[in-house]
Amino acid sequence: MVLLSEKSQYRSGVTSVQVQSANHAYRVLIDSGLLANAGAVITDAKLAPGSCAIISDTNVGPLFAGGLAKNLRSAGYEPKLISVPAGEESKTLDRAGEICEQMLSAGLDRQSFVVGLGGGVIGDLSGFIAAIFARGIPHVQIPTTLLAMVDSSIGGKTGVNTRAGKNLLGAFHPPVLVIDDVDVLKNLPRRELNQGFAEIIKHAIIADAEMFQQLENMDPDKIDLAALIKRNVEIKARVVEQDEREQTSGRALLNFGHTIGHGIERAANYRGILHGEAVSLGMAAATEISVRKAGLAEEQRQRVVDLLRKFGSPTKLPKDFPREKILDALKFDKKFVRGEIRFVVGSKIGSAYLSSDVTMDDIRSAVDTL
Ligand code: NAD
Repeated sequence: MVLLSEKSQYRSGVTSVQVQSANHAYRVLIDSGLLANAGAVITDAKLAPGSCAIISDTNVGPLFAGGLAKNLRSAGYEPKLISVPAGEESKTLDRAGEICEQMLSAGLDRQSFVVGLGGGVIGDLSGFIAAIFARGIPHVQIPTTLLAMVDSSIGGKTGVNTRAGKNLLGAFHPPVLVIDDVDVLKNLPRRELNQGFAEIIKHAIIADAEMFQQLENMDPDKIDLAALIKRNVEIKARVVEQDEREQTSGRALLNFGHTIGHGIERAANYRGILHGEAVSLGMAAATEISVRKAGLAEEQRQRVVDLLRKFGSPTKLPKDFPREKILDALKFDKKFVRGEIRFVVGSKIGSAYLSSDVTMDDIRSAVDTL
């Protein structure tokens, strides 16, 4: 794993990681107090003064949107604040259309830009709007959950859900700037924070054995979050830089634990189990399969399960969970190419690959162990 230390210091000591997308490079800034300086930071990213939309949700908006708008105004921008109800239900085409209408009524045009202030839902929704408004305007991501900082804000995938499934409509529209202010995480409920740790553990399993070991030795209550976020942004950045549009197997490795995880979310009707929790269960099952199909040592499987538990992520389903529905749900998964299962397995901690050798029976018996 090549780390970006030489590119990682942004002016005045702010830590940053540069990500190269197909058309442009963008910075991910990671520090305390960035939100209070967002105007200056956005000016630095060469976004011309003028109108912009701040899209946020009903939990995050009341905490941070007012201050952000004020700060942007004092830097010469004219922000239009738009809020949607918090939660996955807001990630729809209808909602995106309504927001576009509000932006048009407020006079935004192709010189404007969109700021997404919130978790992954807001990042995906605001990014999708930025991709379609006036055929594409710049998108600034200000992620406010750990999951969004280490995962969804990087790589340019944007989109909305449909009745047929999650994230089925969307566009690749990489941001021009990502602002990770670690202070906002102080407000994040523990369960939401844990979802972010599940994705961090996923990164460690697929790409960074050293980070895995460090996480094993860390006290979850005494973590240098900025350093951990930076390392995970670097991992995700390296993966998406090599395979931005998921055309080779590179980006698909980020789906470790997601095949069964999505099946669990769907089986639960997206209620009761959070995405990161479903992915944690999916990773527990995927390591079980990896022991059988990829030669993962049993001792390493146990370490994965122990680490997930240590960071508050589930590895066992509730007793009354409709397990049979998980397998039914798998046929909706995008990763099932023409009926063939392409499943991410780990051969050892820090290394994963895409296998066509995993059968429905393997998945069934792994789900039985949850
Ligand atoms: P989320 O956006 O729903 O945020 C979780 C909850 O925390 C919400 O209720 C939100 O209002 C609240 N919240 C956010 N920040 C807060 C803060 N600082 N303080 C208090 N409350 C706060 O969910 P998420 O877990 O961040 O993201 C999940 C979404 O991300 C899903 O829609 C998923 O599909 C998407 N996703 C996208 C990608 C990608 O590459 N684009 C990758 C992974 C996940």
